[in-house]
Amino acid sequence: MADVALLKCDEYSIDVLKEKFLCGFELIGFDPACFANARVALKPNLLSAVSADSAVITHPIFFQAVAETVMDFGGDPLLVESPAVASLKSAMHESGYDVIIQRLGIPVADTKIARRISFLDGRLLKYFEISAALYDVDMLVNIPKFKTHNLTYITAAVKNLFGCIPGMRKSQMHMRFPDKEMFSEIIVDLYGALVFGFDKPMRMLHVLDAVVSMEGDGPGSSGSPRKTGAVIIGEDAIAVDYVATLFAGLDMKKALTVLYGFMRGFGVSSPDEIRLKGEKMQDMRICGFQTPKTTGMTAFLQVPLLGRIAKDLFVEKPVPRENACTLCYECMHICPADAIDTAVSGRMTPRFDYHRCIRCFCCMEICPEAAISLKEGVMQWLLREK
Ligand code: SF4
Ligand code: SF4
Repeated sequence: MADVALLKCDEYSIDVLKEKFLCGFELIGFDPACFANARVALKPNLLSAVSADSAVITHPIFFQAVAETVMDFGGDPLLVESPAVASLKSAMHESGYDVIIQRLGIPVADTKIARRISFLDGRLLKYFEISAALYDVDMLVNIPKFKTHNLTYITAAVKNLFGCIPGMRKSQMHMRFPDKEMFSEIIVDLYGALVFGFDKPMRMLHVLDAVVSMEGDGPGSSGSPRKTGAVIIGEDAIAVDYVATLFAGLDMKKALTVLYGFMRGFGVSSPDEIRLKGEKMQDMRICGFQTPKTTGMTAFLQVPLLGRIAKDLFVEKPVPRENACTLCYECMHICPADAIDTAVSGRMTPRFDYHRCIRCFCCMEICPEAAISLKEGVMQWLLREK
C-alpha cells in the first residue's frame, strides 16, 4: 500500500507551504527526522531558463520551502538538476533559484559528471547514464511541477526524474525511442533504476507542486499556467502521479507512465493499493483541465516507409511562427533528429525538415517564446472538416 496526501494550498508562501508539508508527512507516515545528518538530493523541475511564474518550472518558493524543511530537520541538501539545453546557471538565474541557493548555502551538483547505473529488470533499457552526484546521497526528494506533456500526456513525479540524466543525453533518448509508448516505458525503466539500481534501494519522497499547474500544450512555454491549488505528497512516484492525474480530471488511459508503472509493480501495482489522505478527491478535482493538442499517434513511426508517409498524414507537426520567433535556435540545439536548420535569408524562423522530424516535440518544450505551434496532419484536418 502507498499513502498519498492531497492538500489544499493556494499560495506560494514559505510558511504556508512548510506547514502543508509537515501535515502531508504526518498523513502519509513519513518521519522528517530521517533527514537528520542525511545527504539529500533535491530534484526540482528546472526545464529551461524561464521566469518563476511561467509554470514551466517548479516555483522557486516551493523549492525553497522544501529545502528549508529538509534543513530544519538537520538534512544536508544538494541541488541535482540538468536542463535539456539551457545551462543550469542561466535557468537558476532567470527563475531566482540562484538567490535562494546562495542564501541557504545549498551546493549544486555538477551534472556534467555522469555515471552508469544498471537495472537488469528494465524493459527497454537496462543501463542509464545519470548524474554521478546521486551515488553520494542518502535520499532523493523529488520536487516536480504538475504539467501536461505533448508526448507523455502528463509530467509529474516519474517524468521529472528524467532530469537526472545529464543534458543532451536526454534528447538522444527521444531519437532512440520516438513514440510515446516506448518513451514512457524508458521513463518507467529509469524510475526503476533510480529506486533499485544503487547498492541499496534509494529512499524517495515526492512533493508535487500543483499550486499553479500547466495545462494545454505543455510542458514548455506553449502550455498555460492554471491555478489548481494543491500539493501532493507521497513516497511512491507512481501513486503520486495517479492521484495527480485523477485530481486534474485527466484520462488515466493516456497517462502511460502511470499505467506502465502499475504493470511493472516497482511499488503499487493498482489503484486499490493507494490510500488517499488529506482532502477528499471530490472537493479538489479540477474541471476542464486542458489536455495537449497532440494525438500521440506515433507508434507507426517505427515502420520506415509507412512511418514517413503516415506521420505527415496523421500526426501534428511543429511549425515556428514568424511573429514570435527570435531566432535563438534553442530548438535547433535540442532537436535529436537534426531536423532543424538555420533560417534562410529573409525568413525569421528556422527551417524544419519534416521528413527527419520524429515528432518528439522537444523543440516546443524548449522554445522560450512559445513560438512553435502544432499543425494538424492532412488526414487529421480532412477528418475533422467532415
Ligand atoms: S522557434 Fe523558438 S526556440 Fe526556435 S529559434 Fe524561434 S524562438 Fe528560438
Ligand atoms: S523538429 Fe521538433 S519535434 Fe521534430 S524531431 Fe526535432 S525537436 Fe522533435
